[in-house]
Order: sequence, then C-alpha cells, then structure tokens
Amino acid sequence: MKLPRIHSTTFSSEIMEIFNYLHTHPEVSMEEYHTTAFIKNKLNEWGCRNIKTFGDDPGVIAEIGKGAPIVGIRADMDALWQEVDGTFRANHSCGHDAHMAMVLGTLLYFKKMNIEPKGTIRYLFQPAEEIGQGAKLMLKKGAVNGLDYLFGVHVRPLEETKNGRAAPAILHGASCSITGRIIGEDAHASRPHLGTNAIEVAASLVNELAHIHADPLVPHSVKMTKLQAGGSSANIIPGQAAFALDLRAQTNEVMEQLIEQVKRAVSTIAEFFKVKIKLIVPDYLAAATLNMEAASIMAAAIRDILGEDKCDAPLVTTGGEDFHFYAKQRPELKTTMLGLGCGLAPGLHHPQMAFDRSAMLTGIQILSSALLKAIDAENGRP
Ligand SMILES: [Zn+2]
Ligand SMILES: [Zn+2]
Repeated sequence: MKLPRIHSTTFSSEIMEIFNYLHTHPEVSMEEYHTTAFIKNKLNEWGCRNIKTFGDDPGVIAEIGKGAPIVGIRADMDALWQEVDGTFRANHSCGHDAHMAMVLGTLLYFKKMNIEPKGTIRYLFQPAEEIGQGAKLMLKKGAVNGLDYLFGVHVRPLEETKNGRAAPAILHGASCSITGRIIGEDAHASRPHLGTNAIEVAASLVNELAHIHADPLVPHSVKMTKLQAGGSSANIIPGQAAFALDLRAQTNEVMEQLIEQVKRAVSTIAEFFKVKIKLIVPDYLAAATLNMEAASIMAAAIRDILGEDKCDAPLVTTGGEDFHFYAKQRPELKTTMLGLGCGLAPGLHHPQMAFDRSAMLTGIQILSSALLKAIDAENGRP
C-alpha cells in the first residue's frame, strides 16, 4: 500500500515544535529524565497503551495496535557534553533530537491519517546510546521481548548520504575502549635499575600493538589513545601510568580476535618488565550485521517515498552505534537502521552540527511505511 503524503502544514509545524523543544532541552546519557517525561506525555496524549517507564532509569516504551506481529521502532535520546561557543553544555550534535522527533512523528502520522496497523507497533525511546549502555538496559527491561522487527534511524553526514537520498542499513563497525594501569615502583632518575619506567613499558606496549594482525580484508585498527605518566619532577622515574586503547573492527569476529591479542600483548609486556598491568575491558559496541529482510523492507519504503533511484546501498561506516546490541543479543530479531540524508554538516558530534530539518518529514514517512510493510510481511502480505 502506498502511504498518503504529508501535505499539512499543521503536521510539519507540530513536528518542528517537538524537535525544537527536544533540541533546546538536551540531556546527557542516563540523565534523560525531562526528555522521558516530555515523550511520555506525548505518548499518552496520542493514545498509546502499555506505556512503561523504568523507575530510576530514563527511557520509555509504549504500543499502538494489538496482537501479532509486533514491530518495534527505536529512537535514542541522549545528547553529548561539549564546548559550544565557549561554554560546556549538553548539546544534541548527534541528531538524537531529530530521531526522537521522527519516531514520535510516525505515531502522529498514523493518528492524523487514521491508519490502524494490523498488528502492534512498539515504540522504544532508549537512553544512553553515546556511552553504549542504553540498548543493554532496554534488553534487560524486556523492551524487545516478542518483537519480530526492530527499526532504528540515524541522520547521516552529507559526504555519506546526500540530502533527498537514504540508505536502508547502516553497517557500523564494532568498537571497544580498553583502559589500563601500569603499576610499578617510582625510582630516583639516577638509579633507573631500582624501578621500572612505566613510560618504557607503555612504549613497548605500543610497539607490541603494531604486531597485532587480523584478516586484512576486514578493516580494523588497534591504537593507544591516552597515556599519562610522570609528574612535575623530571628527576623521578615514573613507576605508574594510565593508558587507553581504542579498538575498531568491521566485524564482531575480528573484534573478539583483537581483544584476545591485546590481552596477550599486555601479559607478555607485564611478564617481561615484571610489573602489574591492570586492564579494564568493557563489553564492546557490536558491529552491524546486515539483515536482508529488514533492509529490503526499508529499501522498499525509501523507494516508495523518495523515488526509485534515491535509495543508496547499505552504508558502511567506521563509527559505532549501540543499536546493534539488539541483534547481537537477539539474533532472531530482524533489525535495520535507516540512514537518512539531510545535508548534515560539518559532521556528527561537531558542536555546530546542522541539517535540513524538513528532511525529518521524509524520514517520518519512510519509517511509517517500513513499519507497515514489516507488519504486512509478517502477516504474509507482500
Ligand atoms: Zn553520537
Ligand atoms: Zn548518534
């Protein structure tokens, strides 16, 4: 079924109003309390049922329609903390304000167009994407239980996707931030043999990292991104150092190999220098795996709304995104993220990030269409 187009100016001004509110009330990861309250209010006002919040944790889910299948759509809610025009503050420079406005927009669209889904649509407003915690939290709260499909959306920089075009999947890579501490004894600079210079230990580690190898056909990297050692006294050999490593890989398999090799390199170096090296290896941000069923539904929605020739190939990008935790933990769930071209510049996370806000209206129609197509697919209607 071809969806009716949005022509109403009241619809677009309502969406812009929602976007402006969210844009001017940014909250950082795990502190999205006002954002949660604002969204919950809209979900209530627009007739959602099963509205659930999570006590002390931000985030809210809700449903429309009834029965099977259950198709989900997720928006991330958090802003970044950064310097904007000389002041540090929360700032929506990753476009999560637009994602929330678009996902809410699908609800408003169904309501205004009197479209009743032949199944259930579950809305997931997820906190803490930027710190990689939100999707895991939603999984723990059962937010994706019973879902057949889950869609997400991210605005794309203009060099990736042009305004007026969109991609049916965003193939983010896996990423992992490992932190570590070298724990040894300080010594007088004149007696280096009585201590272990933590800077030399770290330098050896950097060299060792260069010998980590994985399949060259899968893009990957391992590098030290932080090193702190020594104080203001240049005549002390520092026994302690703190460091951080950034790992990237285009597949989860290669990420797991990199983590194992980093652990091995660290224990070899620790053994050689006879120091302790404490590593903290958190859960890594999972890479996307292309789900053909979900991506082809999204591609069909893009072609319906933007035109036959406006659908790009699935987008491969090195950035990370915690949306892919859902599919990693629930492999049976059919997931994809819409990559929306919107003339975004100078770039995601840039304090002055801006985009063509009218592209949100297109995004709303593509997402609405994908939700209905997924329900039809599960009901056996192509
Ligand atoms: Zn971001
Ligand atoms: Zn983002």
